[in-house]
Amino acid sequence: MTHIAVLGAGISGVTTAYSLALKGYKVTVFERLRYPAMDTSFANGGQLSACNAEVWNNIGTIVKGLKWMTRRDAPLLMNPKPSWHKYSWMAEFARHITNYRSNTIKTTRMAIAAREHLFRIAEEENIDFDLERRGILHVYHNAEEFEDAKKVNALLVEGGLERNPVTNEEIKSIEPSLKGDYYAGFYTPSDSTGDIHKFTVGLAKACEARGVTFTFDAEVSSITPKEDGVRIDWHDATAPAGVPAEGHSANFDGVVICAGCASRKFAKSVGDRINIYPVKGYSITVNINDENSWHKAPYVSLLDESAKIVTSRLGDKRLRVAGTAEYNGFNRDIRADRIEPLVRWTRENFEIETEHVVPWTGLRPMMPDMMPRVQRGSKPNVYYNTGHGHLGWTLSPITAEMLLELVTHDHPI
Ligand SMILES: Cc1cc2nc3c(=O)[nH]c(=O)nc-3n(C[C@H](O)[C@H](O)[C@H](O)COP(=O)(O)OP(=O)(O)OC[C@H]3O[C@@H](n4cnc5c(N)ncnc54)[C@H](O)[C@@H]3O)c2cc1C
Repeated sequence: MTHIAVLGAGISGVTTAYSLALKGYKVTVFERLRYPAMDTSFANGGQLSACNAEVWNNIGTIVKGLKWMTRRDAPLLMNPKPSWHKYSWMAEFARHITNYRSNTIKTTRMAIAAREHLFRIAEEENIDFDLERRGILHVYHNAEEFEDAKKVNALLVEGGLERNPVTNEEIKSIEPSLKGDYYAGFYTPSDSTGDIHKFTVGLAKACEARGVTFTFDAEVSSITPKEDGVRIDWHDATAPAGVPAEGHSANFDGVVICAGCASRKFAKSVGDRINIYPVKGYSITVNINDENSWHKAPYVSLLDESAKIVTSRLGDKRLRVAGTAEYNGFNRDIRADRIEPLVRWTRENFEIETEHVVPWTGLRPMMPDMMPRVQRGSKPNVYYNTGHGHLGWTLSPITAEMLLELVTHDHPI
């Protein structure tokens, strides 16, 4: 039986393991943490959003980024400290402005296709992940924002998305809990939201039931491609500092690298270039404990264009509010001055209590062209399904299927 190793148990690794197992492959997943979905796939914005498929490679993003550089509460922030990786990544990001149009349309198509797989999996495996199928509402504060949004909308529509302009009155009737007034909006009824962590954990359980082995607390230290497969070396990630960790090694017919921001280093070690940069983001989870807040918190998912903040209602008792993009390397500090704007925005927009707020930060595994990498490596039996950036929750169910096609071509079942 063909045995495939999957590196990483985030959303991309677990969807990959599931697709492979369903097809009949023997699968082993390696994860350095103790449980699935503890890294970037833990507490993201929750949006399954074809409407957010626009890639960021445009002049507007760069101009806004430069303007925001001095504001500590800006939605986009860059630590100007010199770093070859950061600046070369940004230069590559700028070069992809020419692909803005085609990549936005491609991403929209993938996001639409992904939904069908996600809903099917959730239903077949009976995974409860606080799915809300009430659409996503983009709100804009002025004419300039809305005029830009119309151009983006034309690309999303070309990609096959049904997304309609709405007036301030319509915004209020779609989501009555919103306190403010808006210039206008766009509403995408077919988009939805859910808890990425609950889904990934549920899917990992379904994988186990289908024979997938999960090796947790296992820090993969090297991948060695061979003519007839690959060798994976790993050690116990829980060994105390200074104590040599017990090493292990095993052979597989192939490996799929789904290691989030660590994928770049693994790619480099096997002679490939997967230029992922960790783009930091923050979320807060507002625990809604009082009855008034239950009724006053939004169920329809929102995207506030000028604040670049998204919301997702996760069941009756939680509201996720997420945003910000920070270019600051592998920094995972939860900064109070980056959390405060999320709390403030929540208070300004809804009449809900923010007494119980859980802050979180995660690193988006972002490619310079903002397109995930689903491909073979240059060495035999090495594959990638990684680099999903700001849309990994939305896109993983389809990229797992795309990856499966490559593996079945090379290792027919
Ligand atoms: C604030 C924020 C909001 C977001 N909002 C949305 C949203 O609304 N919608 C959306 O679609 N996407 C959103 N995203 C993006 C989405 O969350 C990510 O694209 C997705 O979670 C990435 O999943 P992944 O599996 O590729 O990476 P990860 O979840 O990081 O998984 C990679 C795994 O590899 C493991 N690993 C790494 N190195 C090793 C090693 N040496 N050995 C063993 N294991 C290893 C890690 O521990 C980790 O568990 C958001 C991201 C952030 C930060």
